[in-house]
Amino acid sequence: MAFPSTTVQMKKRIIALILAISVLGSSIIIGRLFQLQVVQAEDLQKRAARQQMRVTSLSAQRGTIYDRNGEILAMSGTVWTVYLSPVDIDSEEERSLIAKGLSEILDVSEEFVLEKSKRNTYYEIIKKKIERPLADEVTQFVTENGITCVGLEEDYKRYYPYGTLASTVLGFTGSENQGAYGIEAYYDSVLSGTNGQIVSAKNAWGTDMPFKYEKMYEAQNGNDLVLTIDVNIQRFVDKHLEQAVIEHEVQNKACAVVMDVKTGEILAMSTKPDFDPNSPNTIYDENVQAQLDAITDEDARQKALLEAQYEQWRNKAISDPYEPGSVFKIITASSVLEEKVISLNHSFTCTGTYESGGVTYHCWKLAGHGTQNFAQTLQNSCNPAFISYGQALGKEKFREYFQAFGLTQTTGIDLPGEAGSIYHTEEDFGITELSSSSFGQTFKVTTLQLITAVSAAVNGGKLMQPYVVKQVVDEEKNVVSETTPVVKRQVISNETSATVAALCESVVSEGSGRKAQLPGFRIGGKTGTSEKLGANDSDWKILSFVGFAPADDPQIAVLVMLDEPKLDDPYGSTIAAPIVKNMLADILPYLGMEPQVDVDKDTSVEVPYLTDVMLEEAQSQLIDLGLKARIVGDGDSVLKQVPQYGYEIPYGGTVILYTDETELAENVSVPNVLGKTGKQANTAILNAGLNIKIEGEFPDNVQTQVVSQSPLPDEKVQPGTVVTVTVQQVGDTAASESS
Ligand SMILES: [Zn+2]
Repeated sequence: MAFPSTTVQMKKRIIALILAISVLGSSIIIGRLFQLQVVQAEDLQKRAARQQMRVTSLSAQRGTIYDRNGEILAMSGTVWTVYLSPVDIDSEEERSLIAKGLSEILDVSEEFVLEKSKRNTYYEIIKKKIERPLADEVTQFVTENGITCVGLEEDYKRYYPYGTLASTVLGFTGSENQGAYGIEAYYDSVLSGTNGQIVSAKNAWGTDMPFKYEKMYEAQNGNDLVLTIDVNIQRFVDKHLEQAVIEHEVQNKACAVVMDVKTGEILAMSTKPDFDPNSPNTIYDENVQAQLDAITDEDARQKALLEAQYEQWRNKAISDPYEPGSVFKIITASSVLEEKVISLNHSFTCTGTYESGGVTYHCWKLAGHGTQNFAQTLQNSCNPAFISYGQALGKEKFREYFQAFGLTQTTGIDLPGEAGSIYHTEEDFGITELSSSSFGQTFKVTTLQLITAVSAAVNGGKLMQPYVVKQVVDEEKNVVSETTPVVKRQVISNETSATVAALCESVVSEGSGRKAQLPGFRIGGKTGTSEKLGANDSDWKILSFVGFAPADDPQIAVLVMLDEPKLDDPYGSTIAAPIVKNMLADILPYLGMEPQVDVDKDTSVEVPYLTDVMLEEAQSQLIDLGLKARIVGDGDSVLKQVPQYGYEIPYGGTVILYTDETELAENVSVPNVLGKTGKQANTAILNAGLNIKIEGEFPDNVQTQVVSQSPLPDEKVQPGTVVTVTVQQVGDTAASESS
């Protein structure tokens, strides 16, 4: 803390004290006292100010925030505060020299410095948080001119090296280095440490005191945080979400959460558009800034600016409850299967409408889905079927599971600003409310609550406590505390959970979630579309998709939610699913999950003719065929492709699309796969960025070995080139499969 500026009252008190001492100690006559009070009052005040204890603050360094891999997300760098001690100014010449010099270096007005220089104090801040080059200039200026009344004090400034990355999670700090939002605010007491002080004294006449007094209280630096957030996963999520917001003209922001379903750790949490915590007051959404600029009334604009700032800091994933729509069918399905009120063999006939409690509900497919088994009702996201499931479950049990899945309480994540859900009370939960709730409408939950509930449905039935801070670490890198995963409760059995995960996989492999298919990976998921409650314009919808992988042993879940995308026919299945797919396409290989291309089956695909085709169209053609695209160059259309049209490559193979004549991908070496098993050869060739074509017989459960390959090992070829390998069955003595 800076020494408080001398107030009038304080000055009076100090003068009175000095006078009292003088009277008692020196028997000064009244006349002298009068002279002192009236004639020399001003001079004395100045001396009094000099005699005060000088307290210099020593700022504690705020702790660093790391991601789970040790990447720095927030750190404090040294900056300086320039101060002036007006009572120590020797002459009018010095005063004007200081005013001129400091105003030029620090970009403040000369009048401002002059005004401060005339105050009766020894500590006036001229500028805060200046960085190294300016601080050096100030030092040079005062040294060259022999100025002793201008000083520099160390302070810290917060830097966020990744800019907007995870900004709504990290938050930011205020001008006094205090946590103002997000993790910075939630963990402020852990990060901030304790400031120190140097207290020293000097006498009123500038000479040394009879005793010397100086005491230093050292600053205690703050502790560091290690987050569960992974910079790379966050980057993937940010990239795809940002793109989606632009592409679909999302009106009311979008958010995404990636959760480790087994631990509840948050690997990424994104809201777009967001802000840069290095400059949190700057409005980052150009449209919002344009709206602000258009306001002519100054007061109104200031008010709107504050609102816009607050809005851009909001962490949508935890602060904005919304109607989950059909994603919630995972929860209804889990509940009825766990209660065994509906079996997998149950058959339901959808006619397109369903009567319940005097209300007629429509299926989204107006003509009806016809007769379906349980899995098909989830694949088709059939509303009438789920209304019937809700009724089979009953009001009480429905509410019980709703609560057990954590949807009646905030998750308790270690972040500020978490909103609770909005749902029917017991009294107003009638048959109509039960019906609409069964397919995810007429109640609101947050994105975080929903992904936590879905994770419980597929992770073996455990509701986990979500969290963002893994460890608190001190200056010497000792772990002060560590967050361990907390199972809140077992909501459904392990067996039911496995069934639910398999059902969700069928939604992606065969049902309405097809657009989330990722060749070589087993993905489970569910779409969601909901109209906004109370929205005047029913065209506004919230689209969402939850996906998880691998479906047979879920590790991570991703939930993406777009609030008010601008579309003619907005269904979650066509918009949100591919976003999640694109995120998973980046995340899963990053996490070391290799695509499992089934080489034992004849699943080869003929590469289509893509030359001169627009890039987007080419990409979607490849996706539909179960192939991957790798794009080289910045062009809009395909100039060249490898492999060429007509080649047969396995399902899940990669086609390189060149969009720029000048850019050529670097050639790669063909790996040596001779003597390897078919599976090993497949992995090695795919990992080299090449495609494989396998020739020869290889019945199930029989050991195979590569006997020839073309091109030969170590030959340099373009990425995407097809390597043809011939496999043969080997005898009982063959090396065991070790992939
Ligand atoms: Zn239906």
